[in-house]
Amino acid sequence: MTALNTLNHVFGFDDFRPGQQAIVDSILAGDDVMVIMPTGGGKSLCYQLPAIHRDEGLTVVISPLIALMRDQVAALQAAGVAAAALSSSNSPDENTQIYEALEAGRLRLLYLAPERLNASQALLAKSGVRMVVVDEAHCVSQWGHDFRPDYLTIGDLRDRLGGVQMAAFTATADPDTQAEIAKKLFTGTPTTFLRGFDRPNLSLAFAPKNRPRDQLIRYVKARKGQSGIVYALSRSKTETLAKALRDEGIEALPYHAGLDHETRTRHQDRFQREDGIVICGTIAFGMGIDKPDVRFVFHADLPKSVEAYYQEIGRAGRDGAPAETLTLYGVDDIAMRRQQIDEGAGDATKKRMDHQRFNALLALAEAPVCRRQTLLRYFGEDLAEPCGNCDLCHQPPKMFDASVPVQKALSAIYRTEQRFGAEQVISVLRGEINEKTKRFGHDALSVFGIGQDYSKIMWRGIMRQMLAHGLVTIDNDRHGAWMLTEQARPILRGEQSISLREDAIRQEQKREKQASQVARMVPPEDEALLSELKSLRRRLADEQNVPAYVVFPDRSLIDMVMRKPGDIDGLATCHGVGAKKLERYGEAFLSVLNGQHNMLPKPGRRQAALSGQGALFDELQKTAIDLKYGRTGTDKPLVISEKVIAKLVELQPDSEAAMTRIPGVTEAMVNRFGIAFITVLADYR
Ligand code: ADP
Ligand code: ZN
Repeated sequence: MTALNTLNHVFGFDDFRPGQQAIVDSILAGDDVMVIMPTGGGKSLCYQLPAIHRDEGLTVVISPLIALMRDQVAALQAAGVAAAALSSSNSPDENTQIYEALEAGRLRLLYLAPERLNASQALLAKSGVRMVVVDEAHCVSQWGHDFRPDYLTIGDLRDRLGGVQMAAFTATADPDTQAEIAKKLFTGTPTTFLRGFDRPNLSLAFAPKNRPRDQLIRYVKARKGQSGIVYALSRSKTETLAKALRDEGIEALPYHAGLDHETRTRHQDRFQREDGIVICGTIAFGMGIDKPDVRFVFHADLPKSVEAYYQEIGRAGRDGAPAETLTLYGVDDIAMRRQQIDEGAGDATKKRMDHQRFNALLALAEAPVCRRQTLLRYFGEDLAEPCGNCDLCHQPPKMFDASVPVQKALSAIYRTEQRFGAEQVISVLRGEINEKTKRFGHDALSVFGIGQDYSKIMWRGIMRQMLAHGLVTIDNDRHGAWMLTEQARPILRGEQSISLREDAIRQEQKREKQASQVARMVPPEDEALLSELKSLRRRLADEQNVPAYVVFPDRSLIDMVMRKPGDIDGLATCHGVGAKKLERYGEAFLSVLNGQHNMLPKPGRRQAALSGQGALFDELQKTAIDLKYGRTGTDKPLVISEKVIAKLVELQPDSEAAMTRIPGVTEAMVNRFGIAFITVLADYR
C-alpha cells in the first residue's frame, strides 16, 4: 500500500496538496524535518499520514492549542484512527483509558499539551514512541510573541527517548525563528521544507469605505448561512457591527478581550461548531481557531501590515474550497494606523519599519494589477500569470492620468496652509460655502472651486490614493492636518505625471455585485440539496457532539452536490469520503442525494400555487422533513418527493387507506407520515 492509497482510503482525499507528498516521503524515510507552511496549507496531514501509514509505533504530537487538539482527535477518530489527547482538561477516566491504550500499544497518535510534557516523560519512554511532532514550533522561540516555556523541555524529551525522529511545523517564516527552532529542537540539521505562500482558493478584494455598515450588511446577507469572520479595529465596533447584523437576521456574535471569559468561550465554541455563525471580532479572535470551513473574512477596517492581513484572511477556506475575503479601507484607517505606530512603543527604527510595513499594505490596497501577484511578491514569490481570483483580475481597474486633479488638490492643501483635513480641502476644491470656508476666508483663495468637475466621492478616492502614494501625510499633532511630502513637489511643479485608479462609485457597486456571485458554491438549483445535506450533517454531528466538519467538510458536501452519486461507489469517489465515513454515513447521505436529485424541478409546487394550495403544499413538505427520521429522529431516513406531495394536494386523501392508493406512496411512507399528513389535509379543508 502506498502513502497515496492511505490518503485515499483513510482521509478520502484524491491527491496531495502541493508539497505534502515530499514531506510525507521524507518523514517515512526517517528524516528529521522542519516544515514551514502557510496556515491552511495542510500541515497536519503531513505528520498524521505517516503516523497511520507506518505499521507500528506511536507518534506524539505536541500542540499548544487544546481546543484544536480535541477537534483533530475527533476528526481522526471519525476516520477510524486510534488517536487520543492528553491535556489538563481530561477527566481521570479519560486518562485511565489512554494509559491502557498506550500500554496495549493500541494508539497511533497521541496529542500532548505542553504543560503535560514533563510529567509524561516516563510514560512516553516505555510507549514505543516512533516520532515526536512539534506543532506551532515557533512557540519555542523566546523572542516570538507565542513563546511557551514548556517548549524548551522538548529537547529533554527527545534525548530521553534516545534521539527519536523529530518533525517540527510552523507557519512563521522569518529566518531567525527558523534558526532558533532548528537549534532548540533538533540535534543535527533537519531537512527543511519551505512551502509556497499562495492560497489560490482565497479570493482577494479591497474596496474603499463608502457607508461601511451598509457594505458589511450587503456582503454578509449575500452569504447568509456561511460561516464568516468580520474584523474590526475596536471592541465597541465589533459589538455595534454584530448588533447591526443580528438586526438583519444574521447569527452574529461579538468577540474581543473585553468580554468575560465565559462569553468569549461560548461565542468561539458556537462559531467552531455551528454552521453559518458570523463572528465580529478584534484581532484577539483567531489564535487557536481551526475551523476549516470559514467561508469569508471581511475586514471592516484596514489591518496593520501585509503580514497581519495575510494571517487574518488565511483563516478562511482552510478546507481548500473557495472562500472570499474583502478588506475595506478609507482615509480614516490610514490616519488611525499611522497614529498608532507613532504613539506605540519602540524606538525610531521600529517605527520606521512599522510605517514601511503599513505602506506595503497600502500599496496592495491601491494595486493597479492582480493583487495576488503583488501580495506574493511581498513574500518573495513570483506568480507568473495574473491569478484570475481577485477583484482586479475580475475587473481590471481603469487607470487615468490624474496629474491635473492631483495638482489641484495639492495646491488646495498648500494654499489652505496645510492646516486642514481632507473634507475641508474637498469643500474648497468644490467651492462649497460653509462655516469654515467663511471663517478662514477660503472662498477668496484662487483654488476655491477649481475642482467642481469631480464629485465629493471621487475627490475622496483621489485624495485617498494620494495618501497611499505618499504624496501627503497626516499630522496627528495638528488635528489630522494634511501636509505635502517631498514626493509631491515634482508633481506640483508639473515635472512628473501620475496615474490613479478610477474609483467612481458606480464601479464599486458593480464590484460588490460580482463578489456576491462568486459566493455561490453550487448552482442555484442545487442550493436546496446542499442545505439538506448540511442539516443532515448537523444532526449527525450533534449526535456525536463534534463540530459539523468532523462529519464532512463543506467541500465534501459540495462535491456530492456536483456529482450527485447514485450509489455507494459513486459516493466513495467524492472528496473527503474515506472507507470509515462511507460505512458510517454513506447510507444517510445517499438517501438525501437520491431523494432530491430524482425529483422533478418543482412543477408540483407551482401547480399547487396555481390552484391556491401553495400553503398546504408547504405545510405537507415541512411535515415530511420533520418526520424524515421518524418521531424519535433516529429512524432510517425516508424522503417524500415533491411529486408525491403534489399528488396529496391534488387528491386530498382522507384516510390511510386512501393514501395507500396514491401512486408512489409506499407502505413505509403511510406508516411514518400517514396520520400527520391526514391531519394537515383536514386542517386545510
Ligand atoms: P494547517 O495546519 O496547515 O493550517 P490543516 O492541516 O488544518 O492546515 O489543513 C487544512 C485543511 O485542509 C483541513 O481541513 C484538511 O482536512 C485539508 N486538507 C489537508 N490536506 C488535504 C489534501 N491533500 N486534500 C484535500 N484536503 C486537504
Ligand atoms: Zn489576480
